[in-house]
Amino acid sequence: MRIENKFLLAFIALLFFACNEQEVAEKQLSPQVQLEDIQHRIDSLENFIAKQPVLKPARVEPNFGLFQTLQSVGLDLKQSLNIINTLADTVELGTLRAGQVFWVGFDQKDTSKAVLFRYAENPAILHFLMMDSTDEWSYKMVEKPVNVRYAMYDGVLQEGGNLYNTLRDIGIPQNMVGIVAGVLECRVSFRTDARVGDKFKVLLKETRFQDSLWIGGQVLFASYEGSRVKLSEAFLYMEADPKSSFNAHYTEDGEALIHSGLRYPLDRLHITSSFGYRIHPITGQRAFHNGVDYRGAVGTPVYAVAEGVVAQSSYDNLSGNFIAIKHSDNSQSYYLHLSQRGVKNGQRVKARQVIGKVGNTGRSSGPHLHFGIKQPNGAWMDPRLKRMIATPKLEGAKLAALKEQVKFIRNILDKTEAAEPKSIGDTIQATVKWVEIE
Ligand SMILES: [Zn+2]
Repeated sequence: MRIENKFLLAFIALLFFACNEQEVAEKQLSPQVQLEDIQHRIDSLENFIAKQPVLKPARVEPNFGLFQTLQSVGLDLKQSLNIINTLADTVELGTLRAGQVFWVGFDQKDTSKAVLFRYAENPAILHFLMMDSTDEWSYKMVEKPVNVRYAMYDGVLQEGGNLYNTLRDIGIPQNMVGIVAGVLECRVSFRTDARVGDKFKVLLKETRFQDSLWIGGQVLFASYEGSRVKLSEAFLYMEADPKSSFNAHYTEDGEALIHSGLRYPLDRLHITSSFGYRIHPITGQRAFHNGVDYRGAVGTPVYAVAEGVVAQSSYDNLSGNFIAIKHSDNSQSYYLHLSQRGVKNGQRVKARQVIGKVGNTGRSSGPHLHFGIKQPNGAWMDPRLKRMIATPKLEGAKLAALKEQVKFIRNILDKTEAAEPKSIGDTIQATVKWVEIE
C-alpha cells in the first residue's frame, strides 16, 4: 500500500470515528468520498495522525457557549480563544443547542494540549481544526455528497383547518412548517383574510443525506390566491455569501415582504454570541449578555437600524468606542467596540446611515459588533425579536440578480408542474410533485 493511501484511509477512518452527534451509517458511505479533495489535505494530516490524538466529547450544557464547552474538557483560556478565532467565518457557533457535542483531540504525550477540534454542522458537513507541525491551527471543511430535490406543494385551505395543520397534512417536512407559514404570512393576513378554498403553492429545495437524513430546506417560492387576496408571489433571493442580510423573500419586482422593520446594523450576519446568560469569554464569569455579537472585520460599515438622534457617541473601557441612538418610540439602539465613530452627540441619523466602523476596542476578544436594543422602559431586549430587513426594495445589481434567480425558480416550477403528482390522501385537497436534481 502506498503511503498516501495509508494516510487516506486513516483520515477517512478518523472522519467517522466517534462520529455520534448524529448516527451516521458509515458503512453506507458513498464511494465518492471525494478522493481528490481529500488527497490534498493529507500533508497537513500526516503530522497529526502520527500523534493519534485522544478524543474527548465536549457536550454543550444549557447556557454554555463554545468557550465554556471547550473549557469543560480542560482547555485553557488561550487555547479556547485560539480555536474560536481560527474557526472559519462561515462556522456559526453563537447559538449552540444544549446536548450538541463537539470532539476535541488531545496530544497523546501532552494531554493538556488540544490538536484536533471537530464539529458536525449536520451529518453531511463536518468542520475540522487541526494543529500542524508549527503549532498553528488550520481549518478544513469536509462536505459529503447529498441529494437535492425540489418539491412543489400545492394545496387548498380546508374547512376547520388552520395553516400550520394544513401545511403538515400536505406533507411539508415538520421543521419547515414554521418557515413556510412565515413566508405565506408575509403575503396574507391569515387572521382576517384567509378563507376556505383559498389556494397556495410552496416550492421547497430539500437537501438530504443518504436519501433520508434531513440536512436543510429552503422556501424558494410561495404563492397565495384567495377570495380576499389576489395572487401574490414570494421569491427567495440569495447572495453568494450565505450570511448576507439581503438574503430574504421578495416580490418579483424586488419589494421586501416585510415593509416596516428595522434595518440590519451590518450587511453580513454572523452571530458569535446571542442574547441571554452566558459565560463571558474573557472574565469566565456567568453574566447576562444584553445584546447580540456579530463577527465583522475591522472597518466594516455599521448602519443605524432606524432613524433617530445620537444620544451618546463616546468611549469607555468596557464598551470601547460606542454609539447609542434614540428612536421615535424612545427605544435606543447600541453599537459597541467600534474602531471609528462617524457621528456626534445630538446628531440626527437616518435608517441605514453609516454611523461607524466595526472594531475591537474596549473589552473585546476579537473584532465584532455588539448590538443591543434598550426598550423605552430601560430593559434590554433580544434584538433578534425585532423584525429587521436589509432594504425595503432591491435595486441595481441586486435587483438584476433577483430577476435571474426568479427565472431559475420559474424554470424549476415548470419542471415540478410537469412531474407526476403524488397522492396525499382522499380527504385533503393537495398534491405534491417533485424533481430530483443531480
Ligand atoms: Zn456582546
